[in-house]
Order: sequence, then structure tokens, then C-alpha cells
Amino acid sequence: MQTTISIIGGNIAGLSAAYHLARRGFRVTVYEARIWNKPCGGAISWAFVRYLRQALDIAAAGTDHFVPDLRLSFKHGPPLDMAGFFAVTRRRELQQQLIERLEAEPNIDFVFKRVSISDHSLFTPQTVLSAGFSGFTRQVLRKKWFRMAKGTIFRFDGHIRTGALPNRHLMAFDKQIGGYGWVFVGKNGHVNIGAGGMAVRERIRRWYEDFLTALPERHGYDIRPANPVPACWKIPVLCENWRHPVCFSRRGVEFIGTGDVLGLAHPVIGAGIEPAWLSGWLLALCADPQSGRIHTRQYARLLERNLRLTCRRPMDRALTALLQSPLIPGKDSLGWLAARLLAPRRVRKLRKYPWFAPVHDGRRKT
Ligand SMILES: Cc1cc2nc3c(=O)[nH]c(=O)nc-3n(C[C@H](O)[C@H](O)[C@H](O)COP(=O)(O)OP(=O)(O)OC[C@H]3O[C@@H](n4cnc5c(N)ncnc54)[C@H](O)[C@@H]3O)c2cc1C
Repeated sequence: MQTTISIIGGNIAGLSAAYHLARRGFRVTVYEARIWNKPCGGAISWAFVRYLRQALDIAAAGTDHFVPDLRLSFKHGPPLDMAGFFAVTRRRELQQQLIERLEAEPNIDFVFKRVSISDHSLFTPQTVLSAGFSGFTRQVLRKKWFRMAKGTIFRFDGHIRTGALPNRHLMAFDKQIGGYGWVFVGKNGHVNIGAGGMAVRERIRRWYEDFLTALPERHGYDIRPANPVPACWKIPVLCENWRHPVCFSRRGVEFIGTGDVLGLAHPVIGAGIEPAWLSGWLLALCADPQSGRIHTRQYARLLERNLRLTCRRPMDRALTALLQSPLIPGKDSLGWLAARLLAPRRVRKLRKYPWFAPVHDGRRKT
């Protein structure tokens, strides 16, 4: 008998779980509140762009626009210019493209509905929880949710006056916010601007405003934001995700987390799109079509191995600890020095095996 599995949240993680579970012979129903422009930098690795093209026949929206350069800026020390190595996609279109592609699969049903915890009849005994940073996730995780570290991000879209466009992305790091500000350049002068980190909300907001003011003079972007009031968003980020449980029982339902629910975004740069996709994939690898069950222990193990292989390599963990340590002063210049020393080697490596978690078969051993 074909087993049906409900998936709550139809964005990156939920759609990945749906796609891979369906390929393994499960019938899935995806519940998604809406197709929307999830606030996001939208930066994804070229490896992921290629993967979407080859595996799903999707040319991710916006990734046809190549920006040749990336500037890394630090509070102290001159900026570091290097060749760009990621693409920037638009989230609404990406979600739409993925849903359209998956609607063609016979085993996947979509229901556009905001699910509440009291919609008990919609849940299957094992339900995939892919609802990201939301009230629903909070209700399922309860105390565990409040124990998770979360980054705060201010972000909005803007435009650059024609002719004032340096054709490069910018990432400006600052220990004051324990994170960075960014300008990602899109098509026709469109820019995606944001600042986020692990500091308190007010500090990030003030930093964001200063960042915006300093952009023309310091970095050469002449920006006219479409909306002067930036929206505030949060993103759960855990450094050692594998110690976090992957399933949560509520009223007889076993909810199995993926993506942001597990805080899989990178603890330094907040890149969470690819880990979200990867987690849905790994979850499906642990689903047994014979018994109709998802083996959650195996899922936790696979997740751990793969995170170690990708964005949670020891180097990243050491860097996170260094950046967060109150004991080491002058971290900006240290960061600049490290970036300068490591840049040529790192960039060569990043091109092949980027910062952003690359997608692979989920089976490689560390
Ligand atoms: C401002 C910002 C900038 C970012 N920049 C980047 C970046 O440049 N690169 C990168 O890789 N990552 C970035 N991230 C992180 C990335 O957006 C997330 O890690 C990624 O979207 C996680 O995917 P997900 O599918 O787990 O969750 P989400 O993308 O949040 O999807 C959850 C889905 O669940 C749905 N949902 C929620 N509640 C319900 C409900 N009750 N019923 C039905 N549906 C529901 C929502 O509508 C949503 O579509 C950024 C995040 C933020 C906040």
C-alpha cells in the first residue's frame, strides 16, 4: 500500500522533501500558506544553480544575471575585491517554479492553506515539518524553539540610479553586529540590501541605517530605497545542528523537521537555502517505502555527516567561535588579514566547492 505523508510548508525544504519522497514511491500532500517573496538575500552557489537545471530543469529566476565581482569589506583595513562566485535568485519566482515543476509529479498534491496545530485530521503519523520561522513551528517545538539562537535581519529591495552601478556584490562584515551587511545586485539596477547578525535588534537596525548612509561614499552604490522602513526578519541558526533533535512529538504526531526548523542556515553567513534543500533530500533517503516509515535516527546521522561535509566544516566552526568570542579584540582586522591570506586559495576552492552548502548525493562519508 502506498503511504501518504503530509508536509507542512511548501518552500525550499518542504518542496525538496516532497520531490524526493515522491521519487521513492510515497504519496505526499504539501500544505503551503502562500506563494510569496520570502525575505532573503537569495544568494545560492553556482553548484546549486547547475543542480536545479540538471535535476529539475529549472533555470532559477534571476540567476541568468552574472555579476562578475564581489567586495568583502571590513571595518578596519581596505576592502578586498575578488571574483564573484554565487548567483542571486528571486525567492517568489523560485518557489513558484519549483511548485509548478512538482505539480507535474503524479504523487504530489498541493493544498494552499495556512495549517494550524488544531488541524489534526491533516497530519499523518509522521508529518514533515518544513514551516520555517513561523508560529506553527513555534507551537510544535515549544520550549526547544526558545532555546535556539536566532539571527536578526533588516532587509528591503531598492534601486540604483542608472550609471551609478558598480557591477559587484558587497558583503561588509562587522563584529558590532556579529554579522554583515550586503548589497546583492540584480537585473536592471535592482538591488537586494540587508544587514543581519547575532546582536540585539536595535543595534542591528542602527547599524543597517549607517550602512545604508555610508554606501554611496564608502562603496560607490547610489541607492534610493523603495521603502524607507526596513522589515525585520529572524532566522534560527545553530552552530552544532546535529545536537538538536530532528523530531518532535505532539498529540500523537511525530513531526520531523527540515531546513529552518532545525536552524540549518550557516552560522556566519546565514545561507540556508541549500541546507534546507539538502535536509529534505536526506529525509527522503531515510524513508523506507516497504514499511512506509521515515527512520529518524538515520536521518539525524545523515544530516550530521553532511553538515560536517558542507557548511559546518571545522574551519567554519573555528571561525564562528573566534568571531563570537568576547576575549579577542580587533576581530575586524583579524578577519581582514585572514581573508587576505586565505582569499586566493579559498576563492579557487570556493568556485568548485562553495561556501554555500553544495548539493550532493547525501551519502558521502566524512
Ligand atoms: C532576510 C534573510 C536573508 C537571507 N539570505 C539568504 C541568502 O542570501 N542565501 C541563503 O542561502 N539563505 C538566506 N537566508 C536563509 C533562507 O531564506 C532560509 O534558510 C530558507 O528559506 C529556509 O527554507 P525553509 O524551506 O526551511 O523555510 P522557508 O523558506 O521559511 O519556508 C517555510 C514555508 O512554510 C510556509 N508556512 C509557514 N507556516 C505555515 C503554516 N502554518 N501552514 C502552511 N504553510 C506554512 C511559509 O509560507 C513558507 O513558504 C536568508 C534569510 C533571511 C530571513
